[in-house]
Amino acid sequence: MFELPEFVTLARQMNETLAGKTVRLGSLGNSRHKFVWYNRTPDEFAQLAEGKTVGKARARGKWLFVPLDPGYLLLFGECGGRMLYHPAGAKLPEKYHLWLAFEDGSSLTAMTQMWGVMELYEAGREGERQYLKGMRPTPLDPEFTFDYFSALIDELITGEKRSAKALLTQDQLIPGLGNAITQDMLFRAGLHPRHPISDLHPDQRRKLYGAILGTIDEAIAKGGRYDEFDLYNRPGGYVRLMDSRAAGQPCPVCGATVEKIQYLGGSCYFCPHCQT
Ligand SMILES: [Zn+2]
Repeated sequence: MFELPEFVTLARQMNETLAGKTVRLGSLGNSRHKFVWYNRTPDEFAQLAEGKTVGKARARGKWLFVPLDPGYLLLFGECGGRMLYHPAGAKLPEKYHLWLAFEDGSSLTAMTQMWGVMELYEAGREGERQYLKGMRPTPLDPEFTFDYFSALIDELITGEKRSAKALLTQDQLIPGLGNAITQDMLFRAGLHPRHPISDLHPDQRRKLYGAILGTIDEAIAKGGRYDEFDLYNRPGGYVRLMDSRAAGQPCPVCGATVEKIQYLGGSCYFCPHCQT
């Protein structure tokens, strides 16, 4: 699934490649899929997309906003799979859940894996959508300061008990993070995924905050994770330290064997020596 660095990469590449192109034909794909959420019928989508021009795309959290000017905005969210650019004359994939054909003969296709949102809004109305309305600051927003992060932990520890992994992956507390990128954040912060956030002392909070920003920045600079693909169907350059390939192998820092556990809806990989 795409997380913040992958969406930022896709937005940047759309601005290099798609901005200014005019839609000749818009389609909600050739492959029905129960877990793709659309808010338009295929006819409505085709009618509204035709003749629109792609504006400046941007990413926030696990959402990608692509203006179709004038007046509309294409919203992708909570998805993985492939979002691909096809130059004029290139063969399209066999199946896709959305297709924009441009007047110059090039195309964009999107094919989700698992599930995903592909909705078309009147510009400005997307902010009313569930999960976008009231979204908390993401690690790329200027509001995401250390003071904000520390206050978020203070707010949370008055409620139900939460672990470090829960802080990073649950309830959109820090939008844009998912099970993949957070493994490296916890490793860099020296925290076990189950470490209770109520126990974090100021230095640990500071270290975790730094690990979140440092990991995000590095993954964006490298064009997203190596196990996801960009707009040009190339894998990202960010190789995770803690993932399925690391399990059973020596920790890159101390040499202890990296362990795997199932916890909070996904596998966790961690060093039992470095992460406590
Ligand atoms: Zn270690």
